[in-house]
Amino acid sequence: MFDLVIKEVRLLSSDDIVDIAIKDGVIEKIGQIDEPCQQLIQGERRLLLPPYVESHIHLDTALTSGKPAVNHSGELFEGIQLWNQYRQTMTYEDVVNRALEVIKTMAAQGVLYMRSMVDTSDPELTALRALLDVKETVSSFMTLQLVGFPQNGLSSKEGKEQLKQAIELGVDGISAVPHLEATREKGIQSVETCYQLALEHDCFVHIFCDEIDDGQSRFLEVVADFAIETGLKERVTVSHINAMSYYEEAYVRKLMGLLQASKINVVTAPLISTAMQGRLDSWPKGRGMTRVKDLHQAGITVAVAHDDFLSPFYPLGTGSLLSAGHLLLHLAHMTGADDFDAVLNMITTKPASVLELKGYGIKERNEANLILVSATNAHDLLRRQPVAEVVISKGEMLAETTRPQTVFYSNLNQVREEVEQ
Ligand SMILES: [Zn+2]
Repeated sequence: MFDLVIKEVRLLSSDDIVDIAIKDGVIEKIGQIDEPCQQLIQGERRLLLPPYVESHIHLDTALTSGKPAVNHSGELFEGIQLWNQYRQTMTYEDVVNRALEVIKTMAAQGVLYMRSMVDTSDPELTALRALLDVKETVSSFMTLQLVGFPQNGLSSKEGKEQLKQAIELGVDGISAVPHLEATREKGIQSVETCYQLALEHDCFVHIFCDEIDDGQSRFLEVVADFAIETGLKERVTVSHINAMSYYEEAYVRKLMGLLQASKINVVTAPLISTAMQGRLDSWPKGRGMTRVKDLHQAGITVAVAHDDFLSPFYPLGTGSLLSAGHLLLHLAHMTGADDFDAVLNMITTKPASVLELKGYGIKERNEANLILVSATNAHDLLRRQPVAEVVISKGEMLAETTRPQTVFYSNLNQVREEVEQ
């Protein structure tokens, strides 16, 4: 007997309406299913998707917006200052509580995989210790990866030592922030240090790269070149690369070839980047985004992330990856017929490959991680951003959300008759 059967669902991969049977946490059968089951869900021809995948969030800074003070300028540097202040008073319990609240909020929306940055600039590594325990606590339904992220740079002795300690404590990957180092040379050194540590400790690399509206910030080429030289390639991801939108076309052509050869992944965060970038441009101001459409068309893996969630850097955020995808459609000029599928992939299959997930997707023998939404296809889903009505993790119901229902009281037919008379 099956544990759970979902009758009559629509899949993105075909036009057929199918049933899905789950046993022992695994998708046992896809097709027509008439065998008995313990639990039955009527799919009602709704769309069944694999979960959304968040490839860049900060669980340590989430829900701290306004503490210890509001960010008056709204700018990144004031945000970093406020965060450095908040961090002095942060406790283990505080981090655990905030992280669990965000994870619950996002899981209910169908996000069951998450890569979180953790600032390692704190000598006590309080946030990291808390998030390592959170990772364990939520592992029954959420795959959480942690990245040691040296917000204050890697050139100082402490910066390097604390990142090493974070590796010993058990982060999955490590980062660097080359464009915030004092000089170009120190930026390159920080990338090199990150790669060396990743090779020594078998971690992936996820670099905050060129998150600045400065066409002279060119660390992307450095990261890509190291990816080739070290052979780490697909195990390397860069976030943001906003400076790329200020590069000369001839240089972009050269860079694209290097990126293709390097096989590195790109994560873009439209909600945060459009709020943070372009502020110092004269009019017309930049769109705040890297060249997502060009990168995608060049065959580079691009994922869309939510990133900050009510933090000193960003006073908004709901945890919805559909809202990030929806914004990207506009900013990247991706409203062509094929673009909706491409952008849906950027919050599902593409970040799944960034996170190196195995067995992701709706296939027989894969783990049963599924979400059911009232939509017909990628276009409909991104346009209306409906709630995830049913979220199933490892074969078990994790969350249910009722879709909003509207009752309309005005009698429109009567209004029309009056107009016609
Ligand atoms: Zn971020």
